[in-house]
Amino acid sequence: MRSISIFGATGSIGQSTFDLIRRAGGAEAYRTVALTGARNVALLAEMARELRAEVAVTAHEEELPALRAALAGSGVEAAAGAEAIAEAADRPADWVMSGIVGAAGLVPGLRALRHGGILALANKESLVTAGPLLLATAKAHGATILPVDSEHSAVFQALTGEDAGAVERVIITASGGPFRTWPLEKLARATVAEAKAHPNWSMGSRISIDSASMFNKALELIETREFFGFAPEMIEVLVHPQSIVHALVGFRDGGVMAHLGPADMRHAIGFALHWPERGHVPVERLDLARLGSLSFEAPDAERFPALRLAREVMEIRGLSGAAFNAAKEVALDYFMSGRLGFLGMASVVEETLAVLSAETGLRNAPTGLEEVLAMDRHARVRAAECAAARREV
Ligand code: NDP
Ligand code: MG
Repeated sequence: MRSISIFGATGSIGQSTFDLIRRAGGAEAYRTVALTGARNVALLAEMARELRAEVAVTAHEEELPALRAALAGSGVEAAAGAEAIAEAADRPADWVMSGIVGAAGLVPGLRALRHGGILALANKESLVTAGPLLLATAKAHGATILPVDSEHSAVFQALTGEDAGAVERVIITASGGPFRTWPLEKLARATVAEAKAHPNWSMGSRISIDSASMFNKALELIETREFFGFAPEMIEVLVHPQSIVHALVGFRDGGVMAHLGPADMRHAIGFALHWPERGHVPVERLDLARLGSLSFEAPDAERFPALRLAREVMEIRGLSGAAFNAAKEVALDYFMSGRLGFLGMASVVEETLAVLSAETGLRNAPTGLEEVLAMDRHARVRAAECAAARREV
């Protein structure tokens, strides 16, 4: 029986993964090793009971009593804390979903890769923060990373059976989010509730707001560069409000392979779950005649400066991805808690990168995980200083 673990099981990606596992037979079809969550311990315990997991882990020590109580009599072990999550990743599983949000997903992902097997990677922040380290760890241990971000799964699928050397360009699409047509003056006053209301995708609140600011697409540009290794100038963003075409790969003969699918993450998760085969995945089938038309437009770099900042990171590489992601996470915290305006997020990230660049230089390739984590911590301190100094709200 195939063994699985789901990191971030209580989140949007985790729930979609659980849905696929359950429909495929649940505990009768898969042996579940570890399920992890953070605040939602009731849901975590419920899933762990149903899948008869070996261990359920919450990120927060103070949630352990509640988790233990919810698991009483089930035979599922309970544990808590960041190190306990990393230890859960030390337990071998054939297929692991990396669905934690933020840089907190990096260490569990790295630890899981040490067993070989498959890491289904939704946690784009780990590729942005430490792409080369992640790929080198996978290589050293014979593990396979499969991208789960819809655009990257689409690129992966369009490249299957193709010669990567014949690729001329890669285009990832962006819905444009809820503020696609908003003028700058209106963007400056955008609220958290407005930013969370994604028109097409149902996702966690952090990635939804990142989609509204285009920081999600910025992370994805870097993710494309790090995962597939294409030069920055080969990678483009195309706004496509219907979210049906997820990515396009152009070849040197002028041909373009596009990947289409419904805006449902279960397609990309299911693709990774069944890979290298194509298994049945219960997503809605496309009806293009009913859709009638698909539209495309160029992204607006003035209203969405995150894309320009991502281009800088793609050129610099080194420690700039770790700094960029950490600064973005802090700026997002400030926006979500009402201490920073919507446009202030990009300003904070830009200022933080400038400060760090002058201070430490961001170009040097990290020597290992410790250096990456040190930059992540340091960038958070500097970003919080930049955000506090703005006093916008
Ligand atoms: P959610 O916010 O819905 O879920 C996040 C998960 O991580 C939850 O299980 C949460 O636990 C857990 N978590 C939160 N903080 C920590 C922490 N410090 N340590 C360990 N676990 C933690 O996020 P999504 O599912 O939307 O996104 C997950 C990842 O997938 C992100 O990297 C995102 O960018 C990526 N992704 C998501 C897509 C989507 O459609 N949702 C699409 C493409 C990529 P709890 O809820 O119990 O507090
Ligand atoms: Mg995506």
